[in-house]
Amino acid sequence: MLKKGNKLYSILTGSCPKCHLESMYTYKNPYRMGSLFEMQERCSHCKTKYKIEPSFFYGAMYVSYAVGIAFAVAAFVISFLLLKASIITAFISIVITLVVFLPVIIRLSRNIWINIFIGYDPEAAAH
Ligand SMILES: [Zn+2]
Repeated sequence: MLKKGNKLYSILTGSCPKCHLESMYTYKNPYRMGSLFEMQERCSHCKTKYKIEPSFFYGAMYVSYAVGIAFAVAAFVISFLLLKASIITAFISIVITLVVFLPVIIRLSRNIWINIFIGYDPEAAAH
């Protein structure tokens, strides 16, 4: 279902948005302490420069609001609607979810952001 060539593949795996052949990040695990923002300068395969311009990834902050809200809604639906938790418990679970998934939310936002500007190029992946 999730194949190379699909934008979702790059977004969910953090791979190069152009060739999908390697990770943009120095360390794939977003929970590795201190290396959440460490990215490669450019793709070693297709030479795409990830940081298109200085402070390019500041824009990802706007995306992170939307991604954060999506996680909050999911936490609310699961705790309040599915598990029938009280409204207080539901809000606590939202806060815990946002804290626990913050590294994931930040990376997803960057991946979505860069995928808005750079699309998959089968040419780049083939070479
Ligand atoms: Zn690449």
